[in-house]
Amino acid sequence: MSSAKSASETPRSYKLFIDGKWVDAESGKTFTTPNPATGATLAEVAEGDKADIDKAVVAARTALEGKWSKVSARDRGRMMYKLAQLIEARIGDLAALETADNGKPIKETTYVDLPQVVENFEYFAGWATKIEGETIPVPGQMFNYTLREPVGVCGQIIPWNFPLLMAAWKLAPALAAGNTVVLKPAEQTPVGAMELGSLIQEAGFPDGVVNIVPGYGETAGAALASHPGIDKVAFTGSTEVGKLIARAASDNLTKVSLELGGKAPNIVFADADIEQAVSGAMMGIFFNQGQVCCAGSRLFLDASVKDEFLDRFKERAGRVKVGDPMDASTQMGPQVSEEQLNRIKGYVDIARGEGASVLAGGCPPQLEGDFQKGFFFQPTIFGEVKNSMRVAQEEIFGPVVSIISFDGEEDLIKQANEVVYGLSAGIWTKDITRAHRFARAIKAGTVWINTYNMFNAASPFGGYKQSGYGREMGKHALEMYTQVKSVWVDLSGKPIGWYGN
Ligand code: ADP
Repeated sequence: MSSAKSASETPRSYKLFIDGKWVDAESGKTFTTPNPATGATLAEVAEGDKADIDKAVVAARTALEGKWSKVSARDRGRMMYKLAQLIEARIGDLAALETADNGKPIKETTYVDLPQVVENFEYFAGWATKIEGETIPVPGQMFNYTLREPVGVCGQIIPWNFPLLMAAWKLAPALAAGNTVVLKPAEQTPVGAMELGSLIQEAGFPDGVVNIVPGYGETAGAALASHPGIDKVAFTGSTEVGKLIARAASDNLTKVSLELGGKAPNIVFADADIEQAVSGAMMGIFFNQGQVCCAGSRLFLDASVKDEFLDRFKERAGRVKVGDPMDASTQMGPQVSEEQLNRIKGYVDIARGEGASVLAGGCPPQLEGDFQKGFFFQPTIFGEVKNSMRVAQEEIFGPVVSIISFDGEEDLIKQANEVVYGLSAGIWTKDITRAHRFARAIKAGTVWINTYNMFNAASPFGGYKQSGYGREMGKHALEMYTQVKSVWVDLSGKPIGWYGN
């Protein structure tokens, strides 16, 4: 069952992973997850809900206060390295499963998603032994130091666009810092996380340190976010659901970190290397079928290069190979679900209604055989878009880019920042002063200069404004998974004296 072929053809079945055991849902319910390229059933999965979340939270608490608290930092790191190695040894078949579950091309899962999963576990494995407190130079005969302790039981709710990678972004810093976890994968793409459950067991983590409960957002997800037994909830997904999570967590004042939507400006100045900028614009919007929270979905073009840029961009967009995601030469697979496909189609109608033109794509491609049942869409370019239009303001989450004009740098920065989101931005120019001026002026958590969609486990990622709060990856992620305790010690050996003797 390890080839790409079997991954796409043999229905699998998964139970919940709670306290180191594979168990049915308390309700006995299951749900199926389709292969979005063909609509065929990929797997039948136990459907967790509140009762199962309750069990998983108890298991995570017991592990936190029991076995896991006795594991040294070094051993935590070693288990994480082991997990990274186990994943690396299975990149081929995990990539094929991820492609079958999500629809993203096998080239991406094999060379981007899975290697980055390994990188994140390795990077944070190294941190396990480097999480330290400080001594503070307080006055008098006092000794003051800090302990950096785990937050506790973490509820982690992840989306479907990078299923395994989002699991790694969440699990790796949490485990390095000594927390325990209840992870809820997205209902559209539970398979990768369930496979991870077996590898976590094999890597030697004590039972209950990681619990994985697939299920629907409104049931399992909502039960986790509002659970009084968790200390922190970490969420990646839409801004709309992020607000629900923050509200649900607020009753218990559970700590929250959110990585939400985006509507990134990607800006091409007259002095940019046009070929470089065109390929960057493609990477910005067509990668992962545009289902990327930091997608460069608003493309601002300087008037003097607009025609040349668009000629090349349209031609290149028309040549993107859309089809069988298991084919190594495919550049775009299907969208994750029919719901997402319909959402994108709806935005094409909205764009036309708002007066934008469709310069490329705008509809599904003509495919053959089983792929006719898949959720494919063509690379799509909207021309004559105003920044105030809905297609420029709302996250579409598809291979759909809006072309917007600007009049000078001041107007550009105003328009670029005129959205509720602030996750990322791109700029294409050879003028280094302008590039760095822009990097400061844009309200976003990541700015790419003459590149796009670059990530590394050591570099922080997260949002300004309604794109969320908290930073994932890098040492900043450890801030979200630790809490600081200040310890005071009297060194004088004398009574405090404030009330006399
Ligand atoms: P998208 O809009 O990209 O499908 P969502 O934000 O809806 O993403 O979903 C991301 C994750 O949040 C998924 O795991 C989903 O099940 C979960 N989710 C959805 N609704 C809720 C909710 N009300 N409470 C908690 N989790 C939810």
